[in-house]
Amino acid sequence: MQKPNQYIYERPEPDTLPPTERGSMNYISYSGGKDSTAMLLRMVELDMDIADIVFFDGGWEFPQTYEHIFQVEKFIKRKITVIKPRDTFENFLKRWGWPNMFMRWCTTEKNNTLNKITKCWHQGIAADEINRVKKHKRKAHYPLIEWGWTERDCLNYCYERGFTWGGLYTHFRRVSCFCCPLKGVDEFRRLYKYYPDQWNELKRLDSISPKDFKGYKTVADLQTRFEAENMQLNLLGKKF
Ligand code: SF4
Repeated sequence: MQKPNQYIYERPEPDTLPPTERGSMNYISYSGGKDSTAMLLRMVELDMDIADIVFFDGGWEFPQTYEHIFQVEKFIKRKITVIKPRDTFENFLKRWGWPNMFMRWCTTEKNNTLNKITKCWHQGIAADEINRVKKHKRKAHYPLIEWGWTERDCLNYCYERGFTWGGLYTHFRRVSCFCCPLKGVDEFRRLYKYYPDQWNELKRLDSISPKDFKGYKTVADLQTRFEAENMQLNLLGKKF
């Protein structure tokens, strides 16, 4: 396993935290993905004291992710607390349009909601993603970095315990909102090809957004591109 770089992030000691946070060190921000699942399972295995496991549900997860969370609850024999944004993501989408790099209202909503519970979370960021931690302004714990667990380690660890996410990780490196406009075109191509229900839902959501979709006018334009690619490959006797 990769050696963590102990110096890039700051691990808060309980005594340096405000009194309100000292008793809430082991709050887990749980996304349902491979990294936070590996972190949670390992913390449970190590019998670490966990104050709460909190999943922020914006409503745009794959059905396989919701099913996975249910399986994890059964596995660890413990409820996962689900919290929701102050309004549905769909209503925010109607108001503000698709999030983008400059206006990621969805992550702001998530952070603001989570911050009301505690300001010091255990977060599942893998050791090979340590650069993401540099951008974090608030203090947090990163057990995977302390353990030196890479993304691959996390996935294998979960697979070994029987979690498969219905195959989502065979198609995507990262499993997050199915409609996230920050995905790359390749990921959308796979969404179009393997997940027709989510693709249709993406088109429906796009129809209520006042903003264009990620450099394309609409998701339907992106579909036209994929259909053209598919046709060309068929002519060449290749598979889409
Ligand atoms: S995955 Fe994308 S759409 Fe979902 S919260 Fe993150 S940035 Fe927003």
